[in-house]
Amino acid sequence: AKRHGPGQSRYYLPEMNSRGDELLALETDLRRALEREEFVLHYQPQLEVTTGQITAVEALIRWQHPHRGLVPPRDFIPLLEQTGLIEEVGEWVLETACKQAKSWHSEGYPIRIAVNCSARQFQQHFLDSVRRILQKYALHPSYLELEVTESVVMQDMQSTTYILQRLKEMGVTLAIDDFGTGYSSLAYLKRFPVHSLKIDHSFVRDITNNEEDAAIAETILLLGNSLKLEVVAEGVETGTQMRFFQDRHCHRIQGYWIGRPMPANDLFSLMAGKNNS
Ligand code: C2E
Ligand code: CA
Ligand code: CA
Ligand code: CA
Repeated sequence: AKRHGPGQSRYYLPEMNSRGDELLALETDLRRALEREEFVLHYQPQLEVTTGQITAVEALIRWQHPHRGLVPPRDFIPLLEQTGLIEEVGEWVLETACKQAKSWHSEGYPIRIAVNCSARQFQQHFLDSVRRILQKYALHPSYLELEVTESVVMQDMQSTTYILQRLKEMGVTLAIDDFGTGYSSLAYLKRFPVHSLKIDHSFVRDITNNEEDAAIAETILLLGNSLKLEVVAEGVETGTQMRFFQDRHCHRIQGYWIGRPMPANDLFSLMAGKNNS
C-alpha cells in the first residue's frame, strides 16, 4: 500500500491504477484487519424531538489501524466494496451492532440501532444473516433499522423488491439515507416498506442562510408527513439548525450538536444522563 503522511486521509485509494498486486496487498491488509478485529463501531445518537431522549443510534465503522490510528470509513469502504469483502465486514457490523443494542436493552435502554448497508450486501445471504443475528441476540426486529441509499433501492428493482419484502416480513425497518441526493423516482416510496427518510447533510449545512436548502428540507418533512414516514435530520451542528428542525416537527435529529459518533461506553453515559433527566 502507498504510505502518505499522517495528515493525508485519502490514503488507500489513490494510485490504484496498477490494480493487480496493489489491490491484492490491500485486500490482504483488510482481511487481516477483520481477523485481528481491528474494525470498531462508533455510535452516534439520534435525539427524538418530542421526548428529548436518545431513542436511536447509528453504527458507524472505523478501522483501528495499528500504525495509522483511527481510519475513517471513506478511506476503506469503497475498497471493501470493490473486493467483495464488504459482505463479510457488513455481517460483522450487523452482528456487533445488534449485540450492542441488545446489551443496551438489557441495561434498560430500548434503543433502535441503525446499520448502513452497501448495495453489494443486498442479497439472499444477507437476509439469512439478518435472520440469524436477530435470533441469536433475541433482538426484536423493529429495533433494527437498515440504512440504504436511493441508489441501492434503484439498482435492480426485481431483486431489491424481493429482499425488501423479506425484510418487511421479518419486521426490520428501512431508512433511506442521504435522501434527495441520488437519482431516483419517488415511486419506490410507495412500493417499498420504507420507515424513515434521512435528510442529507448537504441540505442541512447552510439551512439558515440558503433558501433552497431550507425549501428542500421542508419539502422532505412534508413528504414524510404525508406518507407517514419518520424524518431524521443528519449533520445538525448548531443550535440554530436544531431549532429549524424542532420547529418543523422533524422526528429525530442526528449531528454533532447532539453528539459525535463515539465508543459504546461513552454513548451509554450520554444516554444515562439524558434519558433519566
Ligand atoms: P453516512 O451514513 O451518511 O453517515 C453520516 C456521516 O456523517 C458519518 O461519517 C458521521 O460521522 C458524519 N456526521 C454525523 N454528524 C455530523 C455533523 O454534525 N457534521 C458533520 N460534518 N458530519 C457529521 P463517517 O462515520 O465518516 O461515515 C461516512 C460514511 O461511511 C457513512 O455516511 C456511510 O455511508 C459509510 N459507512 C460508515 N459505516 C458503515 C458501515 O458499517 N457499512 C457501510 N456499508 N457503510 C458505512
Ligand atoms: Ca447512514
Ligand atoms: Ca447519510
Ligand atoms: Ca452520506
